[in-house]
Amino acid sequence: MGSYRGARTAVIVGAGVAGLTAAAALARGGWQVEIAEAGPAEAPSGWGLCLTGPSLRALDELGLAGACLAEGYGMDTITHVDVNGEPVDEVRLPRLLGARRPAVVGIARPVLHRILYAEAERCGVAVRHQVTVAAVDQEGELVRVRLSDGTVRRVALLVGADGIRSSVRGLLGLEASLEFHGQMVWRALVPRPSWATGIHQFAGKTDTAGLVPLSGRQAYVFLTENRVGQSILSDAELAPRLQQLLKVFPGRVAEFRSLIAESDSVVRRPVLTALLKGAWSRGNGVVIGDAAHAPAPQMASGTALAVEDGLVLAREIGRHESVGAGLQAFVSRRTQRCRTLVETSMVIAGLEQAQRHHEAYALVDSCHWLMAEPA
Ligand SMILES: Cc1cc2nc3c(=O)[nH]c(=O)nc-3n(C[C@H](O)[C@H](O)[C@H](O)COP(=O)(O)OP(=O)(O)OC[C@H]3O[C@@H](n4cnc5c(N)ncnc54)[C@H](O)[C@@H]3O)c2cc1C
Repeated sequence: MGSYRGARTAVIVGAGVAGLTAAAALARGGWQVEIAEAGPAEAPSGWGLCLTGPSLRALDELGLAGACLAEGYGMDTITHVDVNGEPVDEVRLPRLLGARRPAVVGIARPVLHRILYAEAERCGVAVRHQVTVAAVDQEGELVRVRLSDGTVRRVALLVGADGIRSSVRGLLGLEASLEFHGQMVWRALVPRPSWATGIHQFAGKTDTAGLVPLSGRQAYVFLTENRVGQSILSDAELAPRLQQLLKVFPGRVAEFRSLIAESDSVVRRPVLTALLKGAWSRGNGVVIGDAAHAPAPQMASGTALAVEDGLVLAREIGRHESVGAGLQAFVSRRTQRCRTLVETSMVIAGLEQAQRHHEAYALVDSCHWLMAEPA
């Protein structure tokens, strides 16, 4: 890997959605790309997520939307159910891939990872696992990157795609605000009930629950626990506690609540957001994805921003004479859109906590239409 030196070479830190997308898009534009990923080579385990219209539109540009549609579960609506178990509202999400393809796809995280990873490898990207970045220095037109294994690269571009707790952000001297919103989100994989053909969200007296299909056979249950601290539960406590929290919901929640006992995948995470306070880049280094702007999960759109970042970064770098000019153009195209989404997701999290569900639904709806505008 010592050959990563000079013009049109990049080191990307993090093989998540943002890193893999940026890597594939840059490699297609003729860049030699190496990814340093802290995690092991196995695909990350875990729950599922929603690929909204903007995610699918960006993945379609890479030719990957078809694979996601084939392996996930296509849907068009979010059905909102009130505290009495009655459906009160149906949000139709924008179909950005045309009238014949669905608006949203529910997909297991490992499946999306496999699709993106295979594409990056097909494009010639080298992924190194259990390696991180130790130091970064701008040296003239190049960035000197020292990796945790002691080896050094001198590359034209460094991309920090290392998630909400990004190290690259700090190494580049960029500042972000990281906020906890007094909510913990739960996810559990369960068999898909036959009635679940779209996203369902259930308002509770304290918390919010829901169900998202991931394939013909599988779905994930979510629950947003309000007004809690960032406590840690043992693995053995997770499934019984989630079942207990779901017990107060009437109607169809009871049907999937009983499936949780058999789920071998229950996770609980804090609702955190991150937003860069000022610059996104320094010299020839930049941060993208959650490292730059992590929304609360209520808008199900962090992946959309991450995939868009990867594509727009490669496009702007390819279009400009220098990396610096490309980075400037990238940042000016992305700042407002990403800020709007993160800030709106924070307002939605607050409305949810205040039990102002109807205002939250209206905001989710209008924000999805705003995000439907080109990236
Ligand atoms: C509970 C929950 C539910 C969500 N649901 C949805 C949803 O339905 N739809 C949606 O669009 N979004 C959803 N999101 C948001 C989405 O997961 C993120 O926005 C998206 O994963 C961001 O991608 P990323 O590549 O920027 O970061 P990540 O996916 O976090 O990837 C970062 C990568 O960098 C690696 N890394 C970290 N630190 C280092 C380091 N120092 N050196 C090297 N590598 C490092 C990590 O191992 C990882 O592989 C949800 C988030 C949460 C928490």
